Amino acid sequence: MTATTEWVEDHFIAGDFALDFANTVFRRRPEPGADLFTDTTALNAWLARTGLLPASEERGGGTTEADLADACALRALLWTVFDAQKDHQTIPSGAFTELLGTARHGIEDLSIHPDGTTTPLTAQGAFATVALRAITLILNPPAQTIRACDRCGWFFIDSSRGRRRRWCSMKTCGNQAKAARYRSANAQDG
Ligand SMILES: [Zn+2]
Repeated sequence: MTATTEWVEDHFIAGDFALDFANTVFRRRPEPGADLFTDTTALNAWLARTGLLPASEERGGGTTEADLADACALRALLWTVFDAQKDHQTIPSGAFTELLGTARHGIEDLSIHPDGTTTPLTAQGAFATVALRAITLILNPPAQTIRACDRCGWFFIDSSRGRRRRWCSMKTCGNQAKAARYRSANAQDG
């Protein structure tokens, strides 16, 4: 059995919680890596860490296996719509419709405040919040465009100067890419 994911700062590099939600796999490319939503404990911890829900102990219960399946389905939708957006393609209407469905399904478990912030009351409310955030990013894209790491495919909002960020993080993919370049340069020399 796989161990529950321990969330660390490096899992939250996207600059937006909907993109961080999309990045809950070890890598998206070249083929999907291990799922970081390993179990309901990992999902509970992610929702608490991002502040979408109080810790499961505080709210007297955690997410269910059905919630976990819904989380993975929502993540697949986010990949479809954000891949299209970053590749300058029309957003697939089927995936967008399903995002609207996720938002609608959880909307009753969500308080929407006059300042535009939201307080989800359940996991379904949290998924609705993520879906609404994604819909907002699609319809009103940030000036700093959404990109994906050249190496692992994790999404991020490129707020670097000159908009030339290529990696999810220099510490992980950036350094691995540099090492790979170094190795191949040396191989050519030898
Ligand atoms: Zn990466």
